[in-house]
Amino acid sequence: MADHPPDLHQEQDRGLRGSLPDVDRLAGDWLDSLPDGVAGPDQRRRLLALAGTLRDAVVTEPFDPARPRQVGRDLVSAGVTRPSALDATVRTLGDAGPTIGHARMFTVVGALTSAYAEALRDHTRSEQDHLGAAALAAHALAEDARHTSEARFHAVFTESAVGIGISDVDGRVLEVNRALCDLFGYSPEELTERSAFSFVHPDDDPAYWAEVKDLLAGEVDHVRREKAYVRRDGTSVWADVELTLVRASDGSPRFMVGMLQDITERRRLQDRLRHQAEHDPLTGLPNRTVFFEHLEEELAQPDRHLAVCYLDLDGFKAVNDTLGHDVGDALLRTVAHRLASELDEHLVARMGGDEFVILVRSPGGPEHVHRCALAALAAVRRPVRLAGHDIRVSAGVGVVHSSDLTEPAHGVDIPSRAAELMKAADTTLYRAKHDGRDRVAHFDAHRHHSDIGRLATSARMPLALASGEFVVEYQPLVRLPDQRMVGVEALVRWNLPDGTRLGPDVFIPLAEESGLIVPLGQWVLEQACRDAVRWRDADPEAALYLSVNIAARQIREPGVVAEVSRILEQTGWPADALQLELTESDLMGPTPESLETLNALADMGVRIAIDDFGTGYSNLAYLRRLPVHTLKLAGSFVTGQHGPHTDTVDVEVAGLLIRLAHVLGLGVVAESVETADQLDQLRALGCDTGQGYYFAPALAADAIPGMLHRPVGPS
Ligand code: C2E
Ligand code: MG
Ligand code: MG
Repeated sequence: MADHPPDLHQEQDRGLRGSLPDVDRLAGDWLDSLPDGVAGPDQRRRLLALAGTLRDAVVTEPFDPARPRQVGRDLVSAGVTRPSALDATVRTLGDAGPTIGHARMFTVVGALTSAYAEALRDHTRSEQDHLGAAALAAHALAEDARHTSEARFHAVFTESAVGIGISDVDGRVLEVNRALCDLFGYSPEELTERSAFSFVHPDDDPAYWAEVKDLLAGEVDHVRREKAYVRRDGTSVWADVELTLVRASDGSPRFMVGMLQDITERRRLQDRLRHQAEHDPLTGLPNRTVFFEHLEEELAQPDRHLAVCYLDLDGFKAVNDTLGHDVGDALLRTVAHRLASELDEHLVARMGGDEFVILVRSPGGPEHVHRCALAALAAVRRPVRLAGHDIRVSAGVGVVHSSDLTEPAHGVDIPSRAAELMKAADTTLYRAKHDGRDRVAHFDAHRHHSDIGRLATSARMPLALASGEFVVEYQPLVRLPDQRMVGVEALVRWNLPDGTRLGPDVFIPLAEESGLIVPLGQWVLEQACRDAVRWRDADPEAALYLSVNIAARQIREPGVVAEVSRILEQTGWPADALQLELTESDLMGPTPESLETLNALADMGVRIAIDDFGTGYSNLAYLRRLPVHTLKLAGSFVTGQHGPHTDTVDVEVAGLLIRLAHVLGLGVVAESVETADQLDQLRALGCDTGQGYYFAPALAADAIPGMLHRPVGPS
């Protein structure tokens, strides 16, 4: 204080004291800003001197800003570290403003406070460095280690297998141990000074960073997460991260201590297990569980539109059966790979077997989805070279849009809607397959409901069979020259309890699919034999034969021969008066076993007829080797394929087929004879037998005996 100019003292003495910064008051305020218990007589003297220096700095001309700056720094080293000290300084200087001039006052305040803040920061930093170790001692070590020496602590910090890092409340990394450096692949120098917020990873949950901010702000004391980090070499490590807040004695946040345990191996194992649970092991595609998860997720979004392409390979079974399962597996892998890579913007999953599904999210429109379906078909269609074979397969695709389904009734849950959508996709796929190979079918609400109806019908059939809802009718088979009935064809019908009658065209295909055709076919055969035996018993003169339709599925059934002979035996109907009708396609593709069955039946004396002949693609040379006795000429040759009038070509073809049959030693039955003209024509062509509405429709069993001894139909 010795350097202040004497004239100012005089000024002070002249009563200006109150207008100049009040040294005593300032010193008193600063003293109050000392942390508790630090203020002693020395401190008081030192602060009083500083206040005087400041006052002098304010009034001395020329003004030197270095002097208030020095006061700011000295204040911090004198232990004045509470922000309230600055407030008091500003207030005191402000009071002197009118005397010393406001411009000067602001310059002084600016110089002092900036220097003070800088010095305070430096001070805090060194204090933190010291405190950091203490904080770690408290938190990084187990309870019993709390009281160990700092040296011991440092050894633990350095040697720990757990990565440890300490940051300040701004997130600036102050200290790291070796394990942490090893975990990240960085040197300690590269890690310190970095911000804790720079350790972001693309997989981070944004909520994690919000929690870290909360922790640094003192709102929470702990954060624990599993989190990935990017190592220096660009690879990722996973760590179990535990962040702990260390508070100062007044409770304010001081440090953040992070302890990181490397869990990369465990995560890898978990990932592998999850992958296994979510992917199909054969193709590596997401499995149906994952598919349904995604589907349900999408359906849960309001106003979200999506489409599903359900794909099923055509003829995959044949590949498996002929080339073996290894080739089949390889084919599925190739198809899966193509679908996944060529439709990579969509989720492609394997539903099982040879079924795949494509989830088209936010489709641009029906054409967009149709193009996806076509792309899938094209991917499947390209030949696959496997085990020296060029394998060609195709597929059917059923397409359903989420908007195809009627608005869900209130309360319909998401899993049910997903199931409904997939059921719709399934029936649509069925349509695609039904229409032929390499097809796309789009959902059709009308067809869907009829398919659903079909399924319900199919489900009711076993009960209907047990409760006698099926009946057999008989349509006369008429010898053309004299119009005498020589046989009957048994045709099954279904009388529903509500009075409706279903024709076999409706339910036979369903029964073939469900397998019910086997018991149903047996029942028809048994019923027909019983009826025929009754007619014969009533009229032993009548020599009728019985023609019964038999499905391919029945022929493939093991034990079918034994079953037929049991029925003949039990009913007493002779084998040589029984004819079994098989369709052309069923006959043309028989397995060696079913050929054996046919031969066994023929050996018993049962006749075999080819039904609807001319509608399939018979291999005529092959026909000779089959135990066939009769050709039933398809109705289209008789009634004309292109309309109600008989086409001359049809007539010629019919004539050829009749001659061919005779050359092969087979009898010919013309189906669907409806007019006298047709009858005349068939007679002229040399056809043996006819069947059709011209003679009689299918009739109840009781109607047959009365028709035996006169021409059937108009004469
Ligand atoms: P299908 O064996 O070719 O039987 C002849 C079908 O032609 C019968 O139809 C018959 O009513 C019909 N029809 C007879 N005359 C005429 C005619 O003049 N004009 C026309 N347009 N049609 C005529 P239905 O009874 O509806 O039987 C349809 C098919 O159902 C049968 O064709 C047969 O394949 C199958 N089916 C019927 N009963 C059985 C059965 O018990 N078992 C098996 N597996 N299939 C059966
Ligand atoms: Mg038939
Ligand atoms: Mg027929």
